[in-house]
Amino acid sequence: MDTMTKLEVLAGAAKYDVSCSSSGVSRGNQGGIGNAKSFGICHAWSSDGRCISLLKTLLSNDCVYNCRYCINRRSNDIRRASFSARELADLTIQFYRRNYIEGLFLSAAVEVSPDYTMEKIIQVLTLLRKKYSFQGYIHVKAIPGADPALIQQAGLLADRMSVNIEQPTEQSLRRLAPQKKLTVLHSSMQQLKEQIRAHAEESRRFRYAPRFVPAGQSTQMIVGATSDSDLIILQATQSLYQRFNMKRVYFSAYVPVNEDSDLPAPATAPPLLREHRLYQSDWLLRFYHYKAEEILDPVHAYLDAELDPKTAWAIRHLDLFPVEINRASYEELLRIPGIGPKSALRIISQRRLAAVSVEEVKKLGVVFKRAQYFMTCKGVYAGRRPLDPATIRRIMAPGPAAVQPTLF
Ligand code: SF4
Repeated sequence: MDTMTKLEVLAGAAKYDVSCSSSGVSRGNQGGIGNAKSFGICHAWSSDGRCISLLKTLLSNDCVYNCRYCINRRSNDIRRASFSARELADLTIQFYRRNYIEGLFLSAAVEVSPDYTMEKIIQVLTLLRKKYSFQGYIHVKAIPGADPALIQQAGLLADRMSVNIEQPTEQSLRRLAPQKKLTVLHSSMQQLKEQIRAHAEESRRFRYAPRFVPAGQSTQMIVGATSDSDLIILQATQSLYQRFNMKRVYFSAYVPVNEDSDLPAPATAPPLLREHRLYQSDWLLRFYHYKAEEILDPVHAYLDAELDPKTAWAIRHLDLFPVEINRASYEELLRIPGIGPKSALRIISQRRLAAVSVEEVKKLGVVFKRAQYFMTCKGVYAGRRPLDPATIRRIMAPGPAAVQPTLF
């Protein structure tokens, strides 16, 4: 198989891994220049906020594991391909020189064994960093179960590493990915966390201390392959942030690719809306001081399909509203739908000069059409009249009655 055919196979196989903040389109070349459909290019954001293009590919799809949700599992009869380390390093540099990409997102199936795969990843990184002096962004997988010394070696060459958790519970992981063990995944995450912290500390003290995974670690969870509720997914997400200092937990709506009585049928649409609501909830966990158990509870274990999770929470807790914005703490302001961290800070800064009125709050970046039902300004209710939960819901989600999410 020539290199470009391998790239076609392996970049196609990498599309199910979303832990690189990628997006995809199906538009092909209609006779002009460029081709958005071509081999995987994904995007990530540098520390200064710049969007950078990455070559996104697997090193190999020849997997010895048999995860039931995965297209690359051992028992599937698909085209298999593997890059040699030199082949992939050369390809990356050629693409870089042609200005197609600025970095690399390298994932891999478990080829032969975790150690073998990790060693091959290190060979690619070594060629890129040492032979070609490539300084661009590189995100690679840490293969769970690989020797910690190999993971450490890769971490000294990569910018970001990720260990995909895949499922929110040990039970689901055991059922769908019998060769993967939650304890092994956690131990690789723990290793990354400790070494990231140790090297960050060293680089604060020594100017030329080696860098270790300076962009931090991330992970990915598949959504909709099992009956785990959104509450369980959010609790697992929260725990990953707290225990392992994750930079991001990515959610990947399950695309049914295999016939399996335990999985959604191949014709089932991926739960994209559910994925979107989970990302909104993830935002609440990271920037709005919510706990997973506040966003959902055992009675409301699934996210509302019609309302964003913050509005859904506020409607369930109308007894806490309206909030007087001239007296509320920063945390209380953040709970008002339509007020974000920036507008909350603006309100706090403005009210140091004078109490903020309804007219003034509209100029502070608040999404007034949402916030009005949940706040008072100088004691005046911001909406036209206090509303009951059903009416607020109808105004904010003017579609059909709330869609009951399916178990899958
Ligand atoms: S380890 Fe599992 S998820 Fe990863 S490529 Fe192999 S079969 Fe797929």
